[in-house]
Amino acid sequence: MDELAGGIRRVTLPLPTRPGHVHSYLLPGEDGWIVVDTGLGLPDARDRWAAELHGLPGRVARIVVTHFHPDHVGAARDLAELTGAPVAQGRLDYEQCALVWGGDDWADVLVDWFHRHGVPDEVTSELVQQGSLYRPFIRYQPDPELLEPGDLVDGWLTVAAPGHADGQLMLHRDGTLVAADHLLDRISPTVGLWPRSRPDPLGDYLGALEATIALAPSLAVAGHGEPIADPAARARQLLEHHRERLEATASALGDEPRTGYDVSFPLFGSDLKASARRFAVAETLSHLERLVLEDVARRHETADGVTYTSA
Ligand SMILES: [Zn+2]
Repeated sequence: MDELAGGIRRVTLPLPTRPGHVHSYLLPGEDGWIVVDTGLGLPDARDRWAAELHGLPGRVARIVVTHFHPDHVGAARDLAELTGAPVAQGRLDYEQCALVWGGDDWADVLVDWFHRHGVPDEVTSELVQQGSLYRPFIRYQPDPELLEPGDLVDGWLTVAAPGHADGQLMLHRDGTLVAADHLLDRISPTVGLWPRSRPDPLGDYLGALEATIALAPSLAVAGHGEPIADPAARARQLLEHHRERLEATASALGDEPRTGYDVSFPLFGSDLKASARRFAVAETLSHLERLVLEDVARRHETADGVTYTSA
């Protein structure tokens, strides 16, 4: 466990896939510690957390899940059982969490949807296999306390950060932003369009970056990587990055209809494994949908699937 500024503590947990780690944060709250995010629910998650929390002065009063991705929500139930603390999660985020991880039809939904966007069978079947590998390590807490943006959690204000996940929440107090995966120091957070997600995740994300600049926090700590000393500057870099990516996406379109899968090649290259291609296609689609809303691209939907052309 590392000690950071403002009495915040950081726990770094392993991930089997890139970027190889995820951070949880312990925030000093009014009633005890708030643990933000939980890591994957790996078989040793509970023991690992017990070791991390051993000797911690004061009790864990609450667990907050910023968003439902496996590396953040995965060990929520283990940690709740270990500490007896209640879990809080955004209302919208919890809806999507239960939708994606709570049933067993999500893989079919995903496969149909990727087919409609031009992804071939061999890629979707590998993608389903990959997804089922993660499933046992997602032990979310059913019936959490549901949060809305603007709620106070033991003295910390929840702030909406849609884009990387529709219902992602950050926590803010005295200029310190616990940014989840909204801002990362070196990587550009993935912003994808997914089945049953909000219609314009990239537009949501660009708006959330503008809101971060207006909030002007003095420090951000994130789900991966090192603390960000100038969060507004990082937000401006990410805005610029997506403006460039939107231009690249627009120039990959013409009169010939192209699927999201087709367009992912000029944007992300041809040398991707199926698991990476899935994120590349989702990210390509979030850019294509933004271009449709900006009247730069057109979407064509038929029984066979979805394609895009220049407007
Ligand atoms: Zn993450």
